[in-house]
Amino acid sequence: MDDCIFCKIIKKQLPSKIEFESEDIIVFQDIHPSADLHLLIAPKIHLDGIQNIGPEQRELLGKMFIVINNLVAEKNLTDKNYRVVINGGKSQIVPHLHFHLLGGKWYRFV
Ligand code: AMP
Ligand code: ZN
Repeated sequence: MDDCIFCKIIKKQLPSKIEFESEDIIVFQDIHPSADLHLLIAPKIHLDGIQNIGPEQRELLGKMFIVINNLVAEKNLTDKNYRVVINGGKSQIVPHLHFHLLGGKWYRFV
């Protein structure tokens, strides 16, 4: 998607603080953090949001949860406070599917 900011981040046409990248998934810091740790986990293919998830995304979603679990371990959050959030509908600002991983102290509701 040409006008999608997350697609631009994925194509390195926009700067971002990338924490992890694989063939099909990217993790970068939220530009406006809502917690001590606020990472966004997104697939590299453009899907607008959770409404586009179907059986064909099964493998991708499994990989995304494994990436999240690895991040939780790497960031030493296992026994601390963390949340994984997906916004949908009118709560979603950026229409490219992503999970929020929030850890530590929250500053505001995502
Ligand atoms: P939402 O679509 O409501 O789930 O949230 C989108 C999130 O993307 C917000 O937390 C924004 O702060 C974040 N965001 C928007 N633009 C950028 C950007 N260029 N780089 C990193 N994060 C961004
Ligand atoms: Zn996109």
